[in-house]
Amino acid sequence: MLIVKKFGGTSVANKERIFNVAKRCIRDYEKGHDVVVVLSAMGKYTDELIDKAKDINPNPPKREMDMLFTIGEQMSVSLMAMAMAELGVRAISLNAFQVAMKTTSAYGNARLKKIDTERIRRELEDRKIVIVTGFQGVNKYNDYTTLGRGGSDTTAVALAAALHADACEIYTDVDGVYTADPRLVPTARKLKAITYDEMLDLATLGAGVLHNRSVEMAKKYGVRLVVRSSLNESEGTVVKEVVKKVERMIISGVALDRNADRISVIGIQDVPGSAFKLFNTLAKKNINVDIIIQSVGREGTKDISFTVSHENLKEAIDVLEEYQEVLGFERVEYNCDVAKLSIVGAGMMSNPGVAAKMFECLYNQNVNINMIATSEIRITVLVSTKDAVKAMNAVHDAFGLSEE
Ligand code: ASP
Ligand code: MG
Repeated sequence: MLIVKKFGGTSVANKERIFNVAKRCIRDYEKGHDVVVVLSAMGKYTDELIDKAKDINPNPPKREMDMLFTIGEQMSVSLMAMAMAELGVRAISLNAFQVAMKTTSAYGNARLKKIDTERIRRELEDRKIVIVTGFQGVNKYNDYTTLGRGGSDTTAVALAAALHADACEIYTDVDGVYTADPRLVPTARKLKAITYDEMLDLATLGAGVLHNRSVEMAKKYGVRLVVRSSLNESEGTVVKEVVKKVERMIISGVALDRNADRISVIGIQDVPGSAFKLFNTLAKKNINVDIIIQSVGREGTKDISFTVSHENLKEAIDVLEEYQEVLGFERVEYNCDVAKLSIVGAGMMSNPGVAAKMFECLYNQNVNINMIATSEIRITVLVSTKDAVKAMNAVHDAFGLSEE
């Protein structure tokens, strides 16, 4: 069997944990499996690198940021290889250049395009454990790129797909995927299984367990993922195409994203093309927008509100102000005191009244809804930050997610 195992920052945060991970990988290796390990930077090292950079330049060039970021993963893979050598096992660490992980050119937010598996295969044939840097890639200019925060998951899934691995295990500091973040909702329950689509929504909506692009890629290439803890032996959650009916509730999970900010563009001309121009301007700057609401026009103008993640707020406002004349709006406002609360579940498609139930629950809690967005399998509302956790718990309860 060929197994790809990915370990996040917490799992390799110190010497003791590095040895733990090494031993866990060696167990599989000694059973005769081929083992490829993908690692994140140790602990909060990536955040520390950001602090170091900002101390020098509050707006560091993105290319240089990626150059800096890559040392984090390079440190953890080399230390891991040393730990395995210390335990008497042949291992080799490889970075994105050595593997040849080709990405698009967008620094800080690159997408993997092509992975050359030759070097990895050669090392595996040589009976080595291969340890690869997560998060990083190389673009057409031969520069380092990174895949966006949390991107090591995506590296692992991409490698699993490229190598046709038999298993892709994502080890993290929680036991698996929960019906809600257990730190916010104490009654949250671990799911045995979840579909790619549900997981994708939960990941995108702030569940924080998996990088959303890793789920997208797993779905595309049919990579069966297992999310489990590196700190204990519990079974974890399987992410796959279909989950059996018996295991299924109407809703699989509740997610809260406190990192969302709302921007309102007031008094934009009510003519064809104005929404296109607005969002195209933002897209060109690589700013992702989420929930969008357009309000009814008055005197030939309308208001368009949307959410962006907090990191993008400043850039979004700057861009909008720069293009104010071209876009033809009156003013732009923003609100950081908002959070996105979502419920996700494939069962929604066949059960009417799910939205009404959620709104009733929020009404009972006296929580006001700012914006609403829905898809076939999710409902998202924007609420004020102060109500967010209370609302999350109430909704989790209302849909019976706490019960076995
Ligand atoms: N070290 C990177 C980050 O903190 C990538 C990862 O952990 O997946 O975002
Ligand atoms: Mg992560």
